[in-house]
Amino acid sequence: MTSAQCIVKGLASDGGLYVPESFPELSDEDKRTIPALSYRGAAKAVLKRFLSDFDDETLKECVDGAYSDNFDSDEVAKLVPVSDREYMLELWHGPTCAFKDMALQLTPLLMVQSMRLTGSDQKTLVLTATSGDTGKAALEGFCGVEGTSVAVFYPHGGVSEIQRAQMVTQRGGNAAVAAIRGNFDDAQRAVKALFSDDGFIRTAREKGYCVSSANSINFGRLAPQVVYYVLTSLRVSARHGGSPVDFAVPTGNFGNILAAYYAKRMGAPVGTLVCASNSNDVLRQFIDTGVYDRRREFYKTVSPSMDILVSSNLERLLFELCRRDSEYVKEKMSQLASDGVYRVEGEVKEGIERDFSSFSCDDQTTLQEILRVYNEHRLLIDPHTAVASAAARRHAASTDRPVVTVSTANPYKFADSVYFALTGRKLCGFDSMDALETLTSVAVPDSLRRLRELPELHKDVIDKSEIRRFAESLL
Ligand SMILES: *Cc1c(COP(=O)(O)O)cnc(C)c1O
Repeated sequence: MTSAQCIVKGLASDGGLYVPESFPELSDEDKRTIPALSYRGAAKAVLKRFLSDFDDETLKECVDGAYSDNFDSDEVAKLVPVSDREYMLELWHGPTCAFKDMALQLTPLLMVQSMRLTGSDQKTLVLTATSGDTGKAALEGFCGVEGTSVAVFYPHGGVSEIQRAQMVTQRGGNAAVAAIRGNFDDAQRAVKALFSDDGFIRTAREKGYCVSSANSINFGRLAPQVVYYVLTSLRVSARHGGSPVDFAVPTGNFGNILAAYYAKRMGAPVGTLVCASNSNDVLRQFIDTGVYDRRREFYKTVSPSMDILVSSNLERLLFELCRRDSEYVKEKMSQLASDGVYRVEGEVKEGIERDFSSFSCDDQTTLQEILRVYNEHRLLIDPHTAVASAAARRHAASTDRPVVTVSTANPYKFADSVYFALTGRKLCGFDSMDALETLTSVAVPDSLRRLRELPELHKDVIDKSEIRRFAESLL
């Protein structure tokens, strides 16, 4: 199977996830040359190893289109030193101010080229259920991309005021957004059901569409994330005498941290991966004990993009750690589906212990960390980043290596929580945005500032039963 085929398909027919046949190895020359390249240069150098059926010209076109003046930092992934050997890697300088842009500015372009490379003349309908950040990043990434339409479903009353404003003001003829009555799980389940709704798939096909997904189960969304780990680990390592570089990653669906693991498997100088969770700490328990148990209370936290109990990309890690025994992975995944729990032992557990450590904290610690980082470093961080920062601080005390905190959202996306962390005062939406800017003099990104002036174009609030009709209206 080629990479283009796997990007078009998204999910294998048996429900499994696609993985690379093998990990491309970075040569000594790569390790010398990549750190000096621009982000685009590094993206081309890394991605051509995974997307071997893309010719250089096609890949260049995609990468140049994805990472240009739509990012407000020339570095694209901006490395900020915090102390002697501590760094923040800011991945939120793209158009929607969250790290999802790092992939979703590129995935749509890869998808269009993949359709061409596989000789398909169909168009693509992209369905997305979102708890906030993925929705807007998908809308922005697919906006104006020829041959694609995108439908986003978010839980009514379940996203932040700023996140809602970002989605309902989306322009572009190929986009539709609806709030679903219910929570995120309801939205997710209803959207997933469409993928196996034969009637719907047939209608789509008759109208010339295939149906795809914009979340990180698609390899076309995972591969672009490997780039910043290769580039950053090489650059930081060079500053610290060739030491491996440890990363603390705020983790939900395990996509971002898995990309770091892939970079390590390519031979990049990546050390320990610190998996940081909020009170929904199913991953902390798994890394510590080998038991994955989703039968537990679900908490709504101040870091909502990590409020998740089933981290789909963990499946890809298990596959690598059990010597690629797909029967083993299948057994664990069906135990998870039927019993809500599974256990790993022996070399799989040892493999996890070799490369990963874990951390979790509650909302109070998260908010305290926002305040501490602001007071000590005059850096404003969002609640997701704060969870990772707390993890990095504890981890740094146990190692001499450089430690990078992966920063995943602009603080103004979660202005209510950040303002509360700094002042103890509760304000809402644009009021907290304004007050936070006055307090800190950190500029609100233009794309967020402008939101309140934009007309709300997508006002639909629908029931789960109406999702199909809504999606069909885009065909
Ligand atoms: C999506 C998201 C995460 C979690 O990333 P995963 O790849 O799902 O683990 C963390 N922080 C923010 C701000 C996000 O939007």
